[in-house]
Amino acid sequence: MDKILIRGLEIPACHGVNPPEKVNPQPFIFDVDIAADFYRAAKRDDLSLTVNYSSACRLITEVVSSNTFDLIEKLAYECVFALFENFSSVSGISLTVWKPQAPMKRKFSNVGVTVSLKRESVYLSLGSSLGDKKATLDTAIEKLNKTRGISVQKVSEYIATEPYGGVAKNEFLNCAVQISTILPPHTLLDEIQRIEAECGRVRNKRWEDRTLDIDIIFYGDKTIRDERLTVPHRDWNNRDFVKIPLKSIAPQLF
Ligand code: ATP
Ligand code: MG
Ligand code: MG
Repeated sequence: MDKILIRGLEIPACHGVNPPEKVNPQPFIFDVDIAADFYRAAKRDDLSLTVNYSSACRLITEVVSSNTFDLIEKLAYECVFALFENFSSVSGISLTVWKPQAPMKRKFSNVGVTVSLKRESVYLSLGSSLGDKKATLDTAIEKLNKTRGISVQKVSEYIATEPYGGVAKNEFLNCAVQISTILPPHTLLDEIQRIEAECGRVRNKRWEDRTLDIDIIFYGDKTIRDERLTVPHRDWNNRDFVKIPLKSIAPQLF
């Protein structure tokens, strides 16, 4: 993967937990790796086909100097989010922020944090069998798109399906959604479960009727198997209510 590298971008600003840090600027220094495909830019020698590093530095400067955060962790995430939101061709960012004059008693050479995120294509399966099912799916998709770090790319038609697993009694309304996201898998699961809860999801028995279920079917080409997450979803290939809408928006997966 091609990368643009920015080293030692120094910006005076007011971030820190201690009150004096919020009024007296100190230096923050940024090292940034921006991954994107620059083949066409190189071939045509055309600035408009690459990420303009001067614009990237300006954007970071704006985020850093127009806010006052307690944590450099927050500062790093805000810069990374802003870069992804403003440069659609960027596929990955690793950003380190150094705070060499952090107020610490011991002598130290530097202190900093690194945030590394990649943009991934993710397929979700949504289902609802309680309440106003269509309104719930509409709301869930809107909430996904409003979540920072998630952008909805494609939504299938909603289809009515029979309940699955022998527990639920109601007819379901299902759809498949493609998102582009920079949230890592478990962070995405946290956001999905927040949206399920906000849409009235109560977890009692597995497969029972529910206002909203959102499952991660594919997360890029990642395979994940731990106590919270199995990706690809362990049962997706046995479920027509997942496969039919998914095939309509992503036939290349079949
Ligand atoms: P099923 O996963 O068989 O469709 P369900 O969707 O009804 O069942 P939930 O109650 O929504 O099950 O989720 C139970 C747990 O499954 C969640 O707490 C989550 O940690 C875990 N889980 C594992 N893999 C996934 C995945 N790919 N997508 C969503 N949740 C997952
Ligand atoms: Mg499910
Ligand atoms: Mg689920």
